[in-house]
Amino acid sequence: MSDKSFAPLRAGETVIKGEKNLEVKDLKMYFPIAQGFLRGSKPLKAVDGVSFDLEASETLAVVGESGSGKSTLGRAVLQLLRPTAGKVNWKGTDLAKLKLAALRPYRADLQIVFQDPLASLNPRMTVGDIIAEPLQSLYPKMDKDETRERVSQMMSKVGLLPQMINRYPHEFSGGQNQRIGIARAMILEPRLIVADEPVSALDVSIQAQIVNLLKRLQDEFQMSMLFISHDLSVVRYISHRVLVLYLGKIMEIADRDELFDKPRHPYTQALISAAPVPDPDKEATKPRILLEGEIPSPVNPPSGCVFRTRCPRAQDKCAKEVPALEARGATSARRVACHFPD
Ligand code: ADP
Ligand code: MG
Repeated sequence: MSDKSFAPLRAGETVIKGEKNLEVKDLKMYFPIAQGFLRGSKPLKAVDGVSFDLEASETLAVVGESGSGKSTLGRAVLQLLRPTAGKVNWKGTDLAKLKLAALRPYRADLQIVFQDPLASLNPRMTVGDIIAEPLQSLYPKMDKDETRERVSQMMSKVGLLPQMINRYPHEFSGGQNQRIGIARAMILEPRLIVADEPVSALDVSIQAQIVNLLKRLQDEFQMSMLFISHDLSVVRYISHRVLVLYLGKIMEIADRDELFDKPRHPYTQALISAAPVPDPDKEATKPRILLEGEIPSPVNPPSGCVFRTRCPRAQDKCAKEVPALEARGATSARRVACHFPD
């Protein structure tokens, strides 16, 4: 192994904290469905008109029940799925409009961390090759020594011993494999990481380590994060802002503390009330809002407000009019889509 040390890959570029890097506007991701006599007649609206932005070194959590469209949103932002409509402006360029070949250079900026670490890593490649792959594909002229040294350095940063560089994924634990996945995502020093339930498949004892690792890496590299999770205690710990998604639409988006301390949308309130809190006295006495039934099919969403069929506050108006996502509350950062917010 060489003893040379290499400067950060993107040392010449400065990250301006607070700069808006990502602007998503009215994003729609519809899937055609082939199903009996309905074939081709109605799309599945997995993401249906989502708008938000994200600043440099900011973490926006995306929460919502399974099937609410979180993963689809994350993939559509990264262009792993090409959106049906809407804009994904990355530093002023609409990625949704670019051809595949033109998207290639953006791989340096935009990376993903998956839920299931082992399934996302090629079992026949060594850890070193897995982590080096994005580097080799984007910087084909980088010499072998430098590539190997950068991989070793990144392994240390994510808490892996560089001596393990020639091992295979199956020789590692789930938590270590997620560190490998994170190293692979970070090797290009990206500006945005989409982390799709990155700790959901891990033992609870390991989850905090991985979440802390992501926080540390964000301190060092200043990347933005779209942190997808259904675990509200993890979200509260890691995020700066929270976006609540239901049937492909934003119900509420707000700063983290505002959202947790005073949720205003009944769906946000239900999610928060269902999440366990560590203090047993508080856990026993806290109010609970039970959500009845399951999330409806995105092929046939309810008229008006999509949440109304499970909403304890629903009235006639909710079936007739789609509530706009309006600024509410002390700061303009909070927006709520509800005819009768708390
Ligand atoms: P979440 O990550 O919040 O659980 P997903 O984004 O995975 O939600 O899914 C949202 C909806 O889109 C679900 O109804 C799901 O079945 C549907 N869906 C996701 N991917 C596809 C696809 N490739 N083709 C058809 N439907 C899909
Ligand atoms: Mg998902």
